[in-house]
Amino acid sequence: MRALYPGSFDPLTLGHLDLIERASRLFDGVVVAVLRNPGKTPAFSLDQRLEQIRAATRHLSGVEVGSFDGLTVSFAQERRTQVILRGLRALSDFEYELQIAHTNKSLAPEVETLFLATAVHHSFLSSSVVREVARFGGDVSHLVPDGVAQDLARLFNRAE
Ligand code: ADP
Repeated sequence: MRALYPGSFDPLTLGHLDLIERASRLFDGVVVAVLRNPGKTPAFSLDQRLEQIRAATRHLSGVEVGSFDGLTVSFAQERRTQVILRGLRALSDFEYELQIAHTNKSLAPEVETLFLATAVHHSFLSSSVVREVARFGGDVSHLVPDGVAQDLARLFNRAE
């Protein structure tokens, strides 16, 4: 069985990577799918986010990286993934995620949404927290893969 792991990944964090590593042990294939959201201006370009994920998952077999816009279920069908995978950090994620899962089920009944509980030590971690810490010069090396830490340093040095 193959799984689609969709998200903004702006940027990829060690919480995301933990989920991808665990999913790669559970599924025959995992497609990490970066959302091209025209309504949002991301901190990192699509190409940068794809490269961050490729670099951090090079050691994992069966992990593919792609990008999509439009409906997640359409991309799941296109990439032949039977499962949409999402991470649950806390109760606060639950209501939103359940709403999306029900909507996706109504659009494509054959695609199942599965939730993996986030690693406890990453449960406070989000891309926006990482961006905030990095923006103010804090150390993010324990929160993101090496390549992402370098990208963040470059991004915020240039902005200063
Ligand atoms: P989105 O904008 O779709 O929420 P994110 O990039 O923030 O995209 O998250 C993508 C997926 O990764 C979501 O399922 C989210 O719950 C999960 N996720 C976010 N942060 C973590 C974390 N620290 N550990 C594990 N999973 C996470």
